[in-house]
Amino acid sequence: MRIVLVGPPGAGKGTQAAFLAKNLSIPHISTGDLFRANISQGTELGKQAKAYMDAGNLVPDEVTIGMAKDRMAKPDAENGFLLDGFPRNVSQAEALDVALKADDVKLDAVLDLEVPEDEVVKRIAGRRICRKDSSHVFHVTYSQPKQEGVCDVCGGELYQREDDSEDTVRKRLEVYHTQTEPIIDYYRTQGLVVTISALGKVDEVTERAMDALKGDK
Ligand code: AMP
Repeated sequence: MRIVLVGPPGAGKGTQAAFLAKNLSIPHISTGDLFRANISQGTELGKQAKAYMDAGNLVPDEVTIGMAKDRMAKPDAENGFLLDGFPRNVSQAEALDVALKADDVKLDAVLDLEVPEDEVVKRIAGRRICRKDSSHVFHVTYSQPKQEGVCDVCGGELYQREDDSEDTVRKRLEVYHTQTEPIIDYYRTQGLVVTISALGKVDEVTERAMDALKGDK
């Protein structure tokens, strides 16, 4: 399956993507994770991306689209993938369509995670992620690690993302409404959008998502 996951920051895209990708045996491709890996490795691409990310802005398309296409061209993504955080504007969605068409393949679904704005802010403020693997996500209230500051899965150090500060979150939400939400309409015209509520326990949301993807809404 080829799936795009959309939703505001704090909707739980990263958490759900990790579970869904595992259930569906497809790679989880997160452009945010790819940028963070480049930043921690000190690459040129990471240096270009960092200032935009810290300000809560989108990294320019010239950088992002090439990086996403390179990742999608890897052998593990040949038969499907779950895109998390890409596309994030209509021009990226158009570039993705062109790339898929060139390979003679299509998206199967665009899963839209819905969550009220006040919930988003609460979720992000308490979010802590693992330095070793950013798909290991915890929350100081909703999903506490057994030992404070330590990842339950791999023992890595838990930290708060720099762009999870309150001001940056507001900016990221504004960017989501103005630039990313229009892709939902773009994909609606292609009949691909399935919307689910992202409220509730992590495993309940995963189950809802799996049902929606099976067309069993
Ligand atoms: P995420 O981990 O998906 O929340 O992404 C973190 C940050 O990385 C975003 O706020 C953007 O600055 C940048 N980013 C991730 N994906 C994209 C994308 N598709 N286009 C532009 N910027 C992106």
